[in-house]
Amino acid sequence: MITDKPVCVTGASGFIASYIVMQLLAQGYHVRGTVRKSANNYPFLLSLPGASERLELLEAELLSEGSYDRAVAGCDYVIHTASPYEINVKDPQRDLVDPAVNGTEAVLESCLKSGSVKRLVFTSSIAAITDEAENNKVFNEKDWNTMSSLDRNPYHYSKTLAERDAWDFIMRKRPAFDLVVINPFMVIGPSLTPSLNTSNRIIRDIMSGSYPCIMDLNWGFVDVRDVAKAHILAMENKAAKGRYLCAADAMHLRELVSLLKTSGFSNYPLPKIDLSGNAGSLLMKALSFTQPRDTGMYIRTNIGRTMRYDNSKIRRDLGLSFRDVKKSIIESVADMIKWGHLPQMKR
Ligand code: NAP
Repeated sequence: MITDKPVCVTGASGFIASYIVMQLLAQGYHVRGTVRKSANNYPFLLSLPGASERLELLEAELLSEGSYDRAVAGCDYVIHTASPYEINVKDPQRDLVDPAVNGTEAVLESCLKSGSVKRLVFTSSIAAITDEAENNKVFNEKDWNTMSSLDRNPYHYSKTLAERDAWDFIMRKRPAFDLVVINPFMVIGPSLTPSLNTSNRIIRDIMSGSYPCIMDLNWGFVDVRDVAKAHILAMENKAAKGRYLCAADAMHLRELVSLLKTSGFSNYPLPKIDLSGNAGSLLMKALSFTQPRDTGMYIRTNIGRTMRYDNSKIRRDLGLSFRDVKKSIIESVADMIKWGHLPQMKR
């Protein structure tokens, strides 16, 4: 289904989007990526195989009206990934909600104006499904996060509002294009960009002594290359519909630390004391108030709970199979050492 028309990828400089761009180019697509600075600031994109012939970078900003019109014009497909992904921000409304929500509306309006777009693939998040694990519940695409607010897990709130608005827009305006949504969990893996992504930063922090102990926390992980592939499959597969929870296996912090220890990283200041029992969780909840505001909030809403989810829809509908997240975690570590986000230590 390769066409001469470019595929628009918003936020092309991002951790996930740069892989989407790379995979689209590798498949022979023309790509129009949006970035915030002039193109020469993105050598890692311009040097991708096929980029010199088939990659165009245009500047666009989520908060400027009409900013995406030019990038979307004439495209059949738009993949909208741009959104701030940060946990601790000064002003959650200004720094998270406004760009996520207004930016998504801006991209939807540009798609509508274009008259050419057939499908918008939107990067939402597990954050729009829930902001807390619940023992005895298996989450799936029917679940919506109804708990987050500006004061409680505001990043999750921004993603929930943005995805809700996107679906509302489709209901209200009945455009000629459809919407397919990817909801990834914690995305890890080697990075094409020099920046350290918020999700890989969790692994970096675990290896840098920022975790005082092993807490009762677990996350669903998914490799960035699988997330990129999911977006392209969602774009190409005519039958793709609705939301797709995108996560491989969940892993407990205890298992993660043990994996790092047995994979040659035992010299790093990994958490040693195991406080993942009930008493430890109570203590950690109390100590979470000494953490930056939103990290503390995340700990309080998730500690002592086991995250379970059903990823069968994406495997069945899109034929996506997931990489082994243990391997991805080890590759993330090697890559963070390569980029200088973690020191090289003797094994
Ligand atoms: P990322 O590397 O921080 O990428 C975010 C992208 O959004 C960057 O290209 C960034 O541009 C752009 N952006 C941010 N604010 C913008 C603004 N005001 N105007 C224009 N562009 C703006 O993060 P990522 O992990 O790849 O995230 C991509 C998408 O996946 C986001 O929607 C995020 O919510 C979602 N997601 C991520 C994860 C994860 O674990 N990583 C999980 C679930 C969902 P600059 O490079 O100029 O900052």
